[in-house]
Amino acid sequence: MHLTGFNKFAAIAVMTGILFSLTGCPAKPPKQPDVPESTQTSKAPEEAATTASLDLDEDLSKYDLKEGDSLEDVVSKMENKYGIDIVYGNDIRTEFKDENETITVKPNTNFEDVRKALLAIDEGLNALPKGFLRQLPYGKHKILKIYLTGSITINGVPNSGSPAFTSDSDDELFLTIEVIEDGVVNVPTVVHEISHIVDFKLHHDGLIKEDEWTKLNPEGFTYDNSYGENITGGNDPKYCYTTYHYVGRNTGYPDDDIWFYYCYSKVNAYEDRATMLENLVIYKMWNYEVAEGLYKCPHMKAKVEYYLKLIEKDFKMTQSDRDAWANAFKAIS
Ligand SMILES: [Zn+2]
Repeated sequence: MHLTGFNKFAAIAVMTGILFSLTGCPAKPPKQPDVPESTQTSKAPEEAATTASLDLDEDLSKYDLKEGDSLEDVVSKMENKYGIDIVYGNDIRTEFKDENETITVKPNTNFEDVRKALLAIDEGLNALPKGFLRQLPYGKHKILKIYLTGSITINGVPNSGSPAFTSDSDDELFLTIEVIEDGVVNVPTVVHEISHIVDFKLHHDGLIKEDEWTKLNPEGFTYDNSYGENITGGNDPKYCYTTYHYVGRNTGYPDDDIWFYYCYSKVNAYEDRATMLENLVIYKMWNYEVAEGLYKCPHMKAKVEYYLKLIEKDFKMTQSDRDAWANAFKAIS
């Protein structure tokens, strides 16, 4: 699905708000209790097929989706290709809770919409390096679950405009995506959410040091740690590449005074990194930059480089994937 740049990014900024309330990450790294082996919950059969079966040489073309594939075909191909668990219809989990949020979701049993949504989600996941999602679970988590749901209600408020959220704050590592009418899914939103899970893993593996990350931001800067005004771009746009709307290079700030992609990036470090990566993934997927020239700004470049280096350290990739990512970054930085 291609939206115009404006709609796409407006949508992302609103959609991802809930994510964080749920994960509870703003002020501190996400909680990931390291559960000793002996106390791990028993593994579902499908959970066996994750990192243990990582084979970067495997020919995945047999899992390419075709327009005429049934829902069952699509689910089976994607589960095998990415090493994920796709849950839909009445099998979904309907309640997600942490100390701040109670989120309830309704099942969506319009299976044609679910099928269409999966085709869009596949487009986003396919932009990631081979075997990437299979390596994403960490600690007690053995598999990434993707729930395809009907409407999402947050703290009793329905239709809160948050069609996707992610968390590792309980026994599951999951990404929940609301499938709306006609199965429309915002592909960059899916990638954005995956980036949050990458962050969870990087933290778990001790690779991201937030005090080092802080040094890449302007001196004295602190994140808002709240989803308040930044979502609508109501804050002072200084240090911000764009406001809520993508406005190209018309900010009037010199390149070396650009530190963030857009206002939403200033909510917290997790949103900063997820938004930062969007431009690169979109370029890799669709061969254009939404934020043209963003990575030519030296501080942005330094932040993206830092993040990509950690990802490269933490994930096994084929040489061709390494080259593809390096070349994409080089082309736009
Ligand atoms: Zn987010």
